[in-house]
Amino acid sequence: MANINREKSTRLYEEAQQHIVGGVNSPSRSFKAVGGGAPVFMERGEGAYFWDVDGNKYIDYLAAFGPIITGHAHPHVTDAIVRAARTGTLFGTATEHEIRLAEALKTAIPSMDKVRFVNSGTEAVMTTIRAARAFTGRNKIIKFAGCYHGHADLVLVAAGSGPSTLGIPDSAGIPPSIASEVITVPFNELDGLRQALERWGDEVAAVMVEPIVGNFGMVMPKPGFLEGLCKLARDAGALVIYDEVISAFRFHYGSTQTLPLFPDHEAIRPDLTALGKIIGGGLPIGAYGGRADIMAMIAPLGPAYQAGTMAGNPASVLAGIACLEVLREPGVYDRMEALATRLADGLQASADRNGIPLTINRILGAFSTHFCAHPVTDYEEAQGSDGERFARFFRLMLERGIYLAPSKYEAWFLTTAHSDADIDQTLEAAEQSFREMAKD
Ligand code: PMP
Repeated sequence: MANINREKSTRLYEEAQQHIVGGVNSPSRSFKAVGGGAPVFMERGEGAYFWDVDGNKYIDYLAAFGPIITGHAHPHVTDAIVRAARTGTLFGTATEHEIRLAEALKTAIPSMDKVRFVNSGTEAVMTTIRAARAFTGRNKIIKFAGCYHGHADLVLVAAGSGPSTLGIPDSAGIPPSIASEVITVPFNELDGLRQALERWGDEVAAVMVEPIVGNFGMVMPKPGFLEGLCKLARDAGALVIYDEVISAFRFHYGSTQTLPLFPDHEAIRPDLTALGKIIGGGLPIGAYGGRADIMAMIAPLGPAYQAGTMAGNPASVLAGIACLEVLREPGVYDRMEALATRLADGLQASADRNGIPLTINRILGAFSTHFCAHPVTDYEEAQGSDGERFARFFRLMLERGIYLAPSKYEAWFLTTAHSDADIDQTLEAAEQSFREMAKD
């Protein structure tokens, strides 16, 4: 399958650049970090596959950076979207559907007493920060290096994922007065957090974290890290915000707090949670929620304003409900985990066989691949992996019809649509790719 034809993608990229900044509507879609040139323009998707405009088929491990957990055009989700299209996509009024999705989220994530829907993960995070500031009367936020929380001013400091991929973890265009309200400390060790809270404790509104990281690869919190984080924050009178835009419903039907992997769910209970991606079934959505007394700060109940013309729109909400229904089917997560385990173990064995240093961080049904010999437990270690090697691997896999995220910081996501045959084909492509890389 070497040197597959992508003429039309190349042509469309030329054209796109004349109209759309950088030719893409989200920088993480560009191929800048994997050798540049035209990104692939996709035409349609079905299940675990998508096809580009030149007719090439790919096994998709990008899953649109996370949301497409039931695969492309899942019939149940598609029916929900068609129903919304037929019965009106937006009313600017309340609908019953919103209550049903909110109920489903609250049932799965018990720390969310009250929920509000927005249109993206960025908005969800932004508003948790506003709510925390309004509630505590404090301004500063502590975040962890390499965590990505969307593109709002406050959190584009030491941001992983897209900003790190493109070498701009501290974005331009953010006033120093805003950046100075954010304190960044290392993930997976409590000393930095402790020191920051000792110094600024009574000014800190919230400690924000991806409790399971998805934005400098997949990284598990070390045992005791989340417990310690919650305790330190509480002792300082700061709130705990979990950004679960990637992690909620990714690993099991629920959030990090309810994962059986953690021994004491109360000890890691956040005050506020931000959601997005999966809960919209592939349509735009975000949600935030948490303690009733904090959520009561939000208008129309309280003085902190947040609104949205499209918020809670029937199409996104019905798609989200349908997606969660699929995820509630028995065995769904076990199957994704089994496939991810076989794939990750096979990749590791193949890399080892070919003398390519590779560290794989697998968490249940998702994992990240880091071209390095050391473990990856924080941002610095993730930065220390070999980006050029990743770029080479990405290209070799692409030529063999395997679509990975075009960044060494992003994850491989399994979906309910992937099959054992897909894993076999992917492992065969990886073996060939590693063999070529061993000759470099
Ligand atoms: N938080 C996390 C943890 C994310 O991974 C992302 C997106 N990758 C966001 C927030 C922002 O979400 P959105 O792109 O929907 O604004």
